[in-house]
Amino acid sequence: MLGQGGTALSKLEADVREFLARDDRRVDPKRLRVVIDALEGEFSGEVKNTQKAGDHLVDGAITAVSWISRSCGMSVSSAADRLCVGTELESLPKIAAALTSGEIGYQSASVLCHLREQLGDKRDLFNEDEMLGYARRFSVFHLRMLCRVARHAADPDGFFNEAEENHLRRRLHISLMSDGMHAIDGVLDPEVGSALRTALESLATCRGREDDRKHSQRMADAVGELVHHAMDQGTLPKRNGVRPHVTVTTTLEGLKNEFGAPPADLELSLPISTKTLERITCDSTISRVLLADSMVIDVGRATRVTSAPRRRALRVRDRGCRFPGCDRPVNWTNPHHVVAWTRGGPSDFANEVFLCYYHHRLVHEGGWHIIKVARQFRFLPPERMPVRRARGPGVRWAA
Ligand SMILES: [Zn+2]
Ligand SMILES: [Zn+2]
Repeated sequence: MLGQGGTALSKLEADVREFLARDDRRVDPKRLRVVIDALEGEFSGEVKNTQKAGDHLVDGAITAVSWISRSCGMSVSSAADRLCVGTELESLPKIAAALTSGEIGYQSASVLCHLREQLGDKRDLFNEDEMLGYARRFSVFHLRMLCRVARHAADPDGFFNEAEENHLRRRLHISLMSDGMHAIDGVLDPEVGSALRTALESLATCRGREDDRKHSQRMADAVGELVHHAMDQGTLPKRNGVRPHVTVTTTLEGLKNEFGAPPADLELSLPISTKTLERITCDSTISRVLLADSMVIDVGRATRVTSAPRRRALRVRDRGCRFPGCDRPVNWTNPHHVVAWTRGGPSDFANEVFLCYYHHRLVHEGGWHIIKVARQFRFLPPERMPVRRARGPGVRWAA
């Protein structure tokens, strides 16, 4: 069997054990990486020899890749990578020597080997000296980009075919987790991935001193802002005769936040908190459904909380999110009721203000307060809200 009984390998194993048991734990990581990368090159050459000798067939594996994967505890893609490198390095002596001496790393050598393999019958166009020069000068990321350019120049049809094959790998799954959160898992093609990233990054900027979200949280919020904006525009295709929208089902007691009321139900999700319900219903279309013994006995007309004419007038007045310093224009905002209409707040100009998705959430769930002072709206963070103490009969307000 390979890897057993070879005196050189036994010596290496003993040296590695001695190295791992050393007292002085600090080592130069760059030099350590050179050793590891050189051994990766050696490993790649060795698995290529295994394939040539047909050792994998003796062990009952159908392909050398599956044999490497199984016997060396590697993923199939890693095993295929090592086999490709081992195969190509046989006829790329300068690149092989540069890997052994530590001039270039294993990943750079791998990128070059894959390019040469992909060129197929056009592999003569691969200039070893030129490509090795690039590997010495550029990072792995830039070398990979350069190889894609070189691949396209040498073999545009192969490049296109590979891109189309990759396109088949696109997927997106959104699944509901047990706590009501949604997990997203997907692979997007270069164009869609780039477009999504560009759009989300433009919405995921830090929004001011009070914004303590991590970048990943801002990106998640940007998804929310983008899809709500798309739905608010009313231009998405209809499904079953209606524009896409989020449906929340609640009771009258739930709307009024009465003690003991059941939480509201969000379509395709789990029940939501009262504060989130208040935010969603701040600007929504309400339908009344009367039940008797679980039987629907009456369905009222759908009514928009903020009527279209008042919405237009508010747009002219606010022209965008009213949160200080916010740059969101008016068509990226929605009306917010300073005193929730479910708690008796009127739907009028004095009680409604336009807020963007992020600041609307900051007010409802984040505990910020809006106070109307004369004709101005003032925004107070949670800890700055003046506390008014309850006053007993005949007792003055406490200082
Ligand atoms: Zn609101
Ligand atoms: Zn805003």
